[in-house]
Amino acid sequence: MSSKIKKIAVLTSGGDAPGMNAAIRAVARSCAYYNIECVGVYRGYEGMMEGDFISLNARSVKGIINKGGTILKSARSKEFRTKEGRKKAHTNLVKEGIDAFVVIGGDGSFTGALLFNKEFNFPVMGIPGTIDNDIFGTSHTLGYDTALNTAVDVIDKIRDTASSHNRLFFVEVMGRDVGHIALNVGIGAGAEEILIPEEDLGLDRLLESLRRSKKSGKTSSIVVVAEGDKIGKNVFELKDYIDENLEEYETRVSVLGHMQRGGSPSCFDRVLASRMGVKAVECILEGTSNYMVGLMSDKIVITPLKEAIKGKSKINNELIRVSDIMSV
Ligand code: ATP
Repeated sequence: MSSKIKKIAVLTSGGDAPGMNAAIRAVARSCAYYNIECVGVYRGYEGMMEGDFISLNARSVKGIINKGGTILKSARSKEFRTKEGRKKAHTNLVKEGIDAFVVIGGDGSFTGALLFNKEFNFPVMGIPGTIDNDIFGTSHTLGYDTALNTAVDVIDKIRDTASSHNRLFFVEVMGRDVGHIALNVGIGAGAEEILIPEEDLGLDRLLESLRRSKKSGKTSSIVVVAEGDKIGKNVFELKDYIDENLEEYETRVSVLGHMQRGGSPSCFDRVLASRMGVKAVECILEGTSNYMVGLMSDKIVITPLKEAIKGKSKINNELIRVSDIMSV
């Protein structure tokens, strides 16, 4: 592959997600394969503005494919949102001889990359790294599969204690805008009800469903609640509401929180990260810029960053139907 590109930078930005390290490794190794240099940028755009770079060769990314978090660290940078901030970052990239960058992050990170490209005509590619799976143009973001497995594992454990004490547990999982985690984890862990931002189940229906489930002989119940569900009450208020209206239940709350972001990436995320990293580098070398690498029907595809940012990743209605049938 002949190209004018001689040095590519890679950075992780926004919230961390399992699989980011595997993607860094894939970018660094692809650069080595194509005989170009690779530079890691510490702390996302913050490090880019400070010139906090590290040279990465094929060997410097050894032993990280199985590690959670990101060896390059991540950050949210206010200054990069300003033109002056981005100018500083550009000056540092040019000084370092960097010709393009790959950003692993969410839609905020892609917005920054797109602006940067417009202002400096600098080649950029995006890899979606976020556990929420809320990015248009890919069926899976990096870290999502691992987060699902982590959450299912924990809910299985909660189920043990719930059934020992005949309890009802509200389990809050991540997902401010989309219910992918809640819906999949809810089905996978056999939850009685699943509350997601895309659907307003309503308190009456929730009560009715829990009463029905008690009557049908269930001794414990799990309700999986996405952070951003639309029922109008947070998970603790929901508990209070059920305590007041369904005395037959003893209720508890468990907020899974940041544990969902951590841990060793699943095999799926490691393979996905490797495929995405290779594609991102190959796109840059072929002269493609302003695209995000994604997965659709098990094929690696690219989507313009502009569309990835604007589009919405939709919940699978078939899963909603399956979850309704399973909670009979
Ligand atoms: P997550 O999905 O985990 O929140 P994200 O990439 O969406 O990841 P953000 O905090 O929204 O996370 O964005 C990461 C960084 O991208 C910001 O800290 C900022 O530096 C940059 N960024 C976000 N939006 C813009 C913008 N409109 N203009 C310039 N830079 C931006």
